[in-house]
Amino acid sequence: MSRFFSSKYAALEAYVPGEQPSDMSRYVKLNTNESPFPPSPKALEYAAANTRSLNLYSDPQSQLLTQAVAKTYGVDPDMVLVTNGSDEILNFAFMAFTDKKNPALFADITYGFYPVFAQLNDSPYETIPLRDDFSLCVDDYIGKKGTVFIANPNAPTGVALEVSEIERLVKSDPDRIVVVDEAYVDFGARSCVALTRKYRNLLVCQTFSKSRSFAGGRLGYGIGDPAIIADLNTIKYSTNPYNVNSMTSAMGIGILEDEEYTRTNCLKIIENRNYTVDALKRLGFTVLPSCANFIFVSSDSIEGGELYRRLKEKGVLVRHFTKERISNWCRVSIGSRESMEIFIEKVMEILKA
Ligand code: PMP
Repeated sequence: MSRFFSSKYAALEAYVPGEQPSDMSRYVKLNTNESPFPPSPKALEYAAANTRSLNLYSDPQSQLLTQAVAKTYGVDPDMVLVTNGSDEILNFAFMAFTDKKNPALFADITYGFYPVFAQLNDSPYETIPLRDDFSLCVDDYIGKKGTVFIANPNAPTGVALEVSEIERLVKSDPDRIVVVDEAYVDFGARSCVALTRKYRNLLVCQTFSKSRSFAGGRLGYGIGDPAIIADLNTIKYSTNPYNVNSMTSAMGIGILEDEEYTRTNCLKIIENRNYTVDALKRLGFTVLPSCANFIFVSSDSIEGGELYRRLKEKGVLVRHFTKERISNWCRVSIGSRESMEIFIEKVMEILKA
């Protein structure tokens, strides 16, 4: 830290993203929940058509893309805000809807960025333990004051909550906001987007990074009541009005015009997930029920950190978290069938050694 760094941030512990090795070809990369498939060909076509206008600023309202997202989900465009990845809308939500009087409430085991966003915005937060089986008990949040953040499916566990449970929470207190982070919803969970037409205190965030194979494009969005979206726009226009670049916007429209491609890829991931879960269970692993493009696994035969290190030596990258409650687990992204076969083969070699 330099002597110039603001004292506001002196204690801030930054988010640590998964490794992105420069010598990527050395690894089967199953550590950051990316899609193994390229973005839709339609996105590539639209990107090429867009390059000439890169001399101009992007449309600060991202109107065409916003309309395309709204049409895809059957909501009005004033219920949508597109952002630079869904990390940006989540940060905007912490900025807009948490403060000393409205602490952030989220699970003890969930997306590691939430406590960072809370600290960054000087908002207090409370973590609420998941049950022993890593499921979330909605009743633990009912009656508590604060803005709730729920990843559904949760990360890094992959465990999903019923929409009816989230609705019960949203309904229980119309005076507080519930933010549902649906980054992984397309891989087998149910979305809460339809509820945004019914409740004024619900914000649903999604991303193009996972099911839509566009992590590098950095595109996310939030859907909620127009008043919530207006508040988030105030934050956006106060930080970065051109938050979504025009190339990414054009590609996003192409991706939404090719939903069939997204659906087909999701089905392939689900198939590869089933293959991997079956193989790991046969090898004695415990695998949490996953509705995401990753699985959370542990074994009595090898400690989580050790499995991560041994796999890395063998050229397979998975994610291990040092947090005590989950230190015996690894999160494994679901990639192509070939990648998952290599992963299983390496796990078998490690267990035999
Ligand atoms: N939410 C969750 C639960 C995630 O795991 C991620 C990916 N790290 C994100 C949001 C953010 O993804 P992105 O910014 O790429 O949209």
